[in-house]
Amino acid sequence: MRALIIVNPVAGEQRPLRIAEETAEYLRGADWHVDIWPTERGGHATELAQQRGERDLLVVIGGDGTLRETVAGLAGDETPVGFVPIGKANVMARELGIPRSPHAAIRLLTTGRPTPIDVGTVGDRIFLSMVGVGYDGWVTAGVDAFRARPWGQWLYRHGGSTLLYVLAGIPALLRIRPTRVALEADGVALDGRYPSVIISNAATYAIGWEMTPGAEVHDGQLDHLANRRAAPWFVAWTTLASMLKMRLPALVAEYGRAKSYRVSAAEPFRWQVDGDSMPPATELEIGLLAGHVRLIVPLTAD
Ligand SMILES: [Mg+2]
Repeated sequence: MRALIIVNPVAGEQRPLRIAEETAEYLRGADWHVDIWPTERGGHATELAQQRGERDLLVVIGGDGTLRETVAGLAGDETPVGFVPIGKANVMARELGIPRSPHAAIRLLTTGRPTPIDVGTVGDRIFLSMVGVGYDGWVTAGVDAFRARPWGQWLYRHGGSTLLYVLAGIPALLRIRPTRVALEADGVALDGRYPSVIISNAATYAIGWEMTPGAEVHDGQLDHLANRRAAPWFVAWTTLASMLKMRLPALVAEYGRAKSYRVSAAEPFRWQVDGDSMPPATELEIGLLAGHVRLIVPLTAD
């Protein structure tokens, strides 16, 4: 049986290539033929996945971005995909119960169960966790601006990424006057005009928080949180609720589920997808590819 390891050699703080070698050694011990293909630039994992040829197992070693890029190169086929998470936030590993210790994640490749997982779409991109419109679009844009500077780059590389989000988040909280957006769920327009909307494939948000508690990655539906309030106090409340994995009261926010969404506004709004800030837009079409990728997860997971 033939396995391919796609590894991002600059992911996280660990040594990705050494972990790739350990993974290959482990699989060879179980009679696999293994190739290791390191990525060389952003977007390269998609190309490597497209060029993989006949494989019985695909292993991704990297962060959530490497996993997303790899999945973008799979056309909904049956190849099981294993994931050894060595990123900073590891949102999808938290969501799927994949161990964040490389040794345990490597063992899971042969002991876990390939499970169909939904993948979100926004325009011609895919996402695994969420699309955020409004406040978190401003925050990710702020983090990108910091990372463009040497000190921001240094801080990000040396484990200070959470601090960068706080540094970007507080001024955004005090300064922004967000655009209010209209939201359609499965073609039905919701009543409100919302300063902030999160559309999630997964419940997990950032470092183990939950903006949409109860969202599941294999129910064939997306979940939304639409905030009615823009004042800093409500944004802080939303953040606190997500840290505690609690829902906000109806006075503050609306929740729901749908297979497709349309977000629109007369003025351009800020948005992010899976934590990457995007150029301002006036309209987003968001959809779902149900069970698009077979990810290897622990047997105990649902
Ligand atoms: Mg779902």
